[in-house]
Amino acid sequence: MNTGTHRPTVIKVDAQAIRQNIKQELGRLQPGNELFAVIKANGYGHGLTHVARFASEAGATGFCVAILDEALELREAGFNQPILVLGIVEPKYAQILADQKISVAVGSQQWLEEANKVLCGDSVVRVHFALDTGMGRIGFQEPVELKAAVAYLKMHSDCFLFEGIFTHFATADELDDHYFNTQVARFKAFMAILTKKPRYVHVANSATSLWHKACEGNMIRFGIALYGMNPSGRMIKEPYELQPALALTSALVFVKLLKKGRSVSYGATYTAEEDEWIGTVPIGYADGYPRCLQGFHVLVNGHFCEIVGRVCMDQLMIRLPKHYEIGTEVVLIGKSGDKEISMVDVAEKSGTINYEIACRFSSRIPRNYLNDHES
Ligand SMILES: *Cc1c(COP(=O)(O)O)cnc(C)c1O
Repeated sequence: MNTGTHRPTVIKVDAQAIRQNIKQELGRLQPGNELFAVIKANGYGHGLTHVARFASEAGATGFCVAILDEALELREAGFNQPILVLGIVEPKYAQILADQKISVAVGSQQWLEEANKVLCGDSVVRVHFALDTGMGRIGFQEPVELKAAVAYLKMHSDCFLFEGIFTHFATADELDDHYFNTQVARFKAFMAILTKKPRYVHVANSATSLWHKACEGNMIRFGIALYGMNPSGRMIKEPYELQPALALTSALVFVKLLKKGRSVSYGATYTAEEDEWIGTVPIGYADGYPRCLQGFHVLVNGHFCEIVGRVCMDQLMIRLPKHYEIGTEVVLIGKSGDKEISMVDVAEKSGTINYEIACRFSSRIPRNYLNDHES
């Protein structure tokens, strides 16, 4: 999609907020433990390579991504830190993993066997064994399967390096830790079969690291919280203040007095009850702003203004308390005066979570960076 550089709609990402969130978390880790920044899905919408740089400035020593292409983009941009692909990469791409020194999650011996077929001599793939302790997504189900795969890997140590082992919790962001503890027990049963631990043992996403300090491991996979968002939405309080890094702003591009009885947008679902000032804002669901947000609000000059009528693909309309000039700033996420609209506010009104809202903003919205040392 084209990026709208000739349109006032913009996502502002504060580098300092990202650095601050990471430094806070690093300060709570055991000495020697590392933080890998999870920057999949374009850095949760904040911009892959920019977030990579801000995170490493703050002390992150590696990166996690979801797909191979994200890892390759980082390598192309010159990042030579460890990069782990958390999802399954098809074994036919094993040579690329080896050449680019990109680590990969492996959840079966079959994957190693397939990769082994395509690897040329002296190419080594860095393997992180994924343990399915209850997430039910990828990974070994039983310790005996892991044991066989570790043995296979050792037999083929010319092709594979056993670099890491990890699991992922399904309920670390919930108050009830019953299921979490079941997963911890299963993880321990897996680890008991290892005679030697690999370089990286990691179990913690943001929620686990924030709220389950007792957990083992020497590296954390820190995602949502580095962007200043609470993994639980509002349910559990964060142990330190997270600084939201993202603001979404636009501007009024059309302002009119709508006569009483006239309607707004598709379906004519909103009708003015009196003469009303209506502003048009150039953002819509093609930008990732949810269509269901009719009736929600934005901020103009520190005032909440209702979104009236259906959100269109590229535009939406708001009711203004008075006439405002064209060009007046509209805040869709962020602060205006003493008021604020957070990612969670938008998510709750849309029936989803902050993660989804953040990563769905499309490439049509340009990302501008504040407090970036390199600009
Ligand atoms: C996305 C992801 C993370 C990061 O999770 P956050 O909740 O954003 O911290 C960590 N580990 C795995 C396996 C993931 O897929």
